[in-house]
Amino acid sequence: MPLVTGVYIGLGSNLDDPPEQIRRAVRALGAHPGIRLKNRSSLYRSAPMDGARQPDYCNAVVEVESALDPFGLIAVCQSIERDQGRTRGIHWGPRTLDLDLLVFADQRIATERLIVPHPGLAERAFVLYPLLELAPDLDVPGVGLVSDLVARCGSHPLECTPFTDSETR
Ligand code: ATP
Ligand code: CA
Ligand code: CA
Repeated sequence: MPLVTGVYIGLGSNLDDPPEQIRRAVRALGAHPGIRLKNRSSLYRSAPMDGARQPDYCNAVVEVESALDPFGLIAVCQSIERDQGRTRGIHWGPRTLDLDLLVFADQRIATERLIVPHPGLAERAFVLYPLLELAPDLDVPGVGLVSDLVARCGSHPLECTPFTDSETR
């Protein structure tokens, strides 16, 4: 199967050393035979979406090429989440790792298991700012240009910290 380009995955963690959880997940994605890592953003800090009842999140986005179809890719993402101790409690509750399939080339998918592009993408600064680093000119299918989405999502509410782990460079 040929590699599909223009695939973006969002990463988030707010438990058990979040930056290390993100770095570990990036390594796991890159080590999978069906996935080729192309680029990754800096790490960002963001406030939880449900207010202040849980720790801040560490977020990043990676660009990959995929030999897997979107359903195969999300299954790999969910298995990496499980490997890193993800348990499913309350929706948007604290978690060691969350991997969301943001964009899969020009595909638009709306099933129970998978919605692509990810429905929260256009409103979430912690997705848009890392994505802006990697792909300002990306036209998210049915949603719009990343640079326009960032301009529309308002002021920058995040602190940005660069990766320090040379293994993931
Ligand atoms: P949100 O999706 O709003 O960011 P969340 O990441 O906390 O919330 P999860 O509990 O991780 O939500 O996922 C709930 C379900 O969403 C998963 O079981 C998965 O099947 C489904 N899902 C649908 N579309 C996607 C997508 N693009 N990426 C990841 N999961 C998706
Ligand atoms: Ca999510
Ligand atoms: Ca998720």
